[in-house]
Amino acid sequence: NKYVTIKTHIEDAPKEADFDLKTSTLALSLEPGSKGMIVKNLYVSFDPYQLNRMKSHSSSQKTLRITEGITPGREIEAFGVARVVASENPEYEKGDLVVGFVTWAEYSKMGSDGMIKKLDQMDFPLSYHVGILGFSGLTAYAGFFEICKPKRGEKVFVSAASGSVGNLVGQYAKLHGCYIVGCAGSEQKVRLLKEKLGFDEAFNYREETDLNSTLKRYFPDGIDIYFDNVGAEMQEAAVANMNAFGRVAMCGVISEYVDPGKRAAPNMLEVIYKRIKIQGFLAGDHIGLFQDFISTTSDHLRSGKLCPLEDISDGLDSIPFAFVGLFRGDNIGKKIVKIAEE
Ligand code: NDP
Repeated sequence: NKYVTIKTHIEDAPKEADFDLKTSTLALSLEPGSKGMIVKNLYVSFDPYQLNRMKSHSSSQKTLRITEGITPGREIEAFGVARVVASENPEYEKGDLVVGFVTWAEYSKMGSDGMIKKLDQMDFPLSYHVGILGFSGLTAYAGFFEICKPKRGEKVFVSAASGSVGNLVGQYAKLHGCYIVGCAGSEQKVRLLKEKLGFDEAFNYREETDLNSTLKRYFPDGIDIYFDNVGAEMQEAAVANMNAFGRVAMCGVISEYVDPGKRAAPNMLEVIYKRIKIQGFLAGDHIGLFQDFISTTSDHLRSGKLCPLEDISDGLDSIPFAFVGLFRGDNIGKKIVKIAEE
């Protein structure tokens, strides 16, 4: 069984040389009654938070499953779609398609406590269940609707807007009747946001020298909602441009993952006087919204109101380059690796 692992813990920006493609033997037999399963991975996700789990300090945060440390040499957990090839779990049969946490590997062995479920909605490409109908989609949906509590006509700003979560936040915001501006790291991405995804405005943050005045330009009447995927100076500038009773959904701080010294320092007096609500959230806490999220998102996909944005690379060997690329901004939309034919 081939799998991708890290050679050592990674403390700042990841490099391809930090990763290894290894082979282990995997017996296809399972202990009777073990409730375990072996699955063949088909499409598997890349997520920026995985980098935090590759750092050495993350082992001290074991109380949170999402930040449990990754041990060098071991398989790396990732969200994905897979097919059951052997099962001692009475709820699953050989041949079933499943979605949940597998590994960056050809095959994954799941214990009885594996976070996985049967895939029953089959009218979309399987890869959608890794992104727009999977964890990224739920993150955008829960973060925008549950945390930001948007109202029609409100002015919304989202960072990393061409990423997996950000592009959907923008599309949901537009469908909800909000004014939406996104930022991304290239002209090509900016054009895509405006011309294909319906953003009212978008800008290339790499070309801007003073983010505060950039945001004033796009939001002359202030920001009501900021969906933060990047942290640091973008968060400071967004808070400085927020209206009274604005909301900030703290989804991620990707610019701080690769630069541990970097931290946002919004003006807290401003937060108080403007009564701004800043709330961190984890998509995993909003599983209760999953059915609602799936039915709304599927309907919008069927009617063509939502545009799926995927960036699929081929084969396990492509994983190191593709993962490192998340932190360079190589990806456009949900980054996924196709490991095997359906
Ligand atoms: P993606 O992997 O799809 O996209 C990442 C994008 O971030 C890149 O394409 C790049 O685009 C941008 N980026 C990379 N480095 C920087 C930087 N230094 N400064 C600004 N932008 C940068 O990301 P996701 O949409 O999957 O995730 C977005 C955020 O949401 C992440 O912070 C992630 O950790 C978080 N997240 C949180 C969850 C939760 O439950 N709270 C769940 C899932 C994700 P560009 O060209 O624009 O630079």
